[in-house]
Amino acid sequence: MGQPNDTSRAIHAAVLIAGAGPTGLAAALFLARRGVGVRIVDAAPQPSVTSKALAVNSRTLDMLQDTGVSERIVTQGWSARGATLHQQDKEILSFDLPTTLGAPRAITVLPQARTEALLTEALQAQGVIVERGISLKSLVQDETQVTSTLVHMEGETEEVKSLLLLGADGARSTTRQALGLDFAGSNLPEPWKLWDLQLDTPLDPWHAHIMFEPDGFIFLLRLQANLWRVIGNGHDPLGALRRTCMVGPVAWQSQFHIGHRVAAKAAVGRVALGGDAAHIHSPIGARGMNLGIEDAYVYADCAADALAGDMTRLHDYAVLRHAVHKEVVRRIGAITRLVHGRPTWLRWVRDEVVPLAAHLTLARQLMLRTVGGLDHPLKTRP
Ligand SMILES: Cc1cc2nc3c(=O)[nH]c(=O)nc-3n(C[C@H](O)[C@H](O)[C@H](O)COP(=O)(O)OP(=O)(O)OC[C@H]3O[C@@H](n4cnc5c(N)ncnc54)[C@H](O)[C@@H]3O)c2cc1C
Repeated sequence: MGQPNDTSRAIHAAVLIAGAGPTGLAAALFLARRGVGVRIVDAAPQPSVTSKALAVNSRTLDMLQDTGVSERIVTQGWSARGATLHQQDKEILSFDLPTTLGAPRAITVLPQARTEALLTEALQAQGVIVERGISLKSLVQDETQVTSTLVHMEGETEEVKSLLLLGADGARSTTRQALGLDFAGSNLPEPWKLWDLQLDTPLDPWHAHIMFEPDGFIFLLRLQANLWRVIGNGHDPLGALRRTCMVGPVAWQSQFHIGHRVAAKAAVGRVALGGDAAHIHSPIGARGMNLGIEDAYVYADCAADALAGDMTRLHDYAVLRHAVHKEVVRRIGAITRLVHGRPTWLRWVRDEVVPLAAHLTLARQLMLRTVGGLDHPLKTRP
């Protein structure tokens, strides 16, 4: 565990981080590299093993460059060379993802569990160990500190005093609820289905693929060898794939509900929110994990300044990130509704207008900037 950089004996950690997903891990890493004493706890007894986010975007690699994690992500993952749109079985457009968009690669494919493991290793090298099986239960803050109640898996309760608290505790964030913040937005009505499965397919394995189907869409991205990620919202996405592919054994299967929501504020006083605790949206655009790591990067800058005496920097974090969260969730929500293809008039736009628009350089640049995470400037100061 890192030591607090505050000499007060009452303070147990300069920053307490609740949640060791990609957001919490990245925040702990950025802070520890600045010499800030952090403590990071996670409710789960073990690290997550699910692949969830596959796409690490170029901005994330940029931000993690100095930590050595980017190099390992690039070595262990593979770089997507392009994307192809299909209308059912007919290819309508194929284009390359450039290798430079102000960063080395637009998209590097690596399962989220591996990205988290690499962040954890880098954090460990800074002397910070993730404490597992410990949940944030409640918090109170005053002018000088935050007092958090943590519950250990064995039932023991602990009171921790920190100068700051970062809630990186996911979509159902206890931190957000303790702050009494709204998580306004909407949900799509039907669940989306996900498979990681073996596929024998004529599709280009170096491209991401989106297929527009009459009852929805299918997204495909290869994880490794013949193992592919398939996400679909229609009645029978695998049945649709069987028209052209041999569908093999399933390695992981899930289904999830899509919401587009933003917390009313990204920080209140000494307590901030980052990652899914502050914003959720569909996986289209591959932004969730990447945006959480971006929150962590900006938070570390603001929090380090706040600990050095400039408390206005927490307000900066709240203002800067809330604006980004609203804009990214709005944009991904709009793209998702279009790809979703419901109601019927939107399906007409998707099937008739999108293929034409996608040939336009401007439309393609916009899309590349969205998946590369470069659709807004990375600002740590207003
Ligand atoms: C199928 C799927 C595909 C996706 N694809 C992509 C993609 O390609 N690219 C992308 O960028 N994103 C993608 N995402 C989104 C991405 O997985 C999430 O946005 C990301 O995991 C958010 O990270 P986080 O650290 O903010 O939250 P989480 O990963 O949810 O981590 C939160 C952590 O907090 C812990 N926790 C919860 N409550 C408490 C508590 N009270 N006290 C202590 N700990 C607590 C949890 O155990 C968990 O470890 C995808 C998501 C899904 C479901």
